[in-house]
Amino acid sequence: MFYGVRIGEFAWSALQPAEDRFDFDWLDRAIDVLSHAGLSVILGTPTATPPMWLVHQHPDVLPISAEGVQMKPGVRKYYCHTNDTYRSHCQRIAAELGRRYGSHPAVVDWQIDNELGDHDTVRCYCPRCRAAFIDWCRAKYGSMSALNDAWGTVFWNQTYSDWAQLDLPYPIREIGLNPGHLLD
Ligand SMILES: [Zn+2]
Repeated sequence: MFYGVRIGEFAWSALQPAEDRFDFDWLDRAIDVLSHAGLSVILGTPTATPPMWLVHQHPDVLPISAEGVQMKPGVRKYYCHTNDTYRSHCQRIAAELGRRYGSHPAVVDWQIDNELGDHDTVRCYCPRCRAAFIDWCRAKYGSMSALNDAWGTVFWNQTYSDWAQLDLPYPIREIGLNPGHLLD
């Protein structure tokens, strides 16, 4: 029988109150208390929600909706998955946690993020995500003609002649989307 607790998945602000300041004392104490009570710990990376200092310094970590509206901090998951700044800060805090607790006898497992993609939070329509989608299409199809064939673009007069013409599939158009485009 496993007796344990899962903690830390929303504790980024408490673990890193500022960009160059970490505070692990409270988590040390919490893990000690749990350990002495006979409980194991599953430690979550706190990356499911960026801290406010990060959002304030780098507002481009916030995702953009299909309607073109930049999302604002809510309860969780307000980040663009492709944002390099966000990802580098995630790697930094995760590495700090790994160094400090990776060999801790009470920490028996790790949880990466929390409910990844929950509340339809994966899709982002920022310029970076558009560029990443185009790169992904280029890598997948290799040529414009292959993409045009796969998407059947000739049917709706959508034949592309340059990668720069590609856009993300926006679900807000009432006339619907090219299903090949949407599938990719
Ligand atoms: Zn994005």
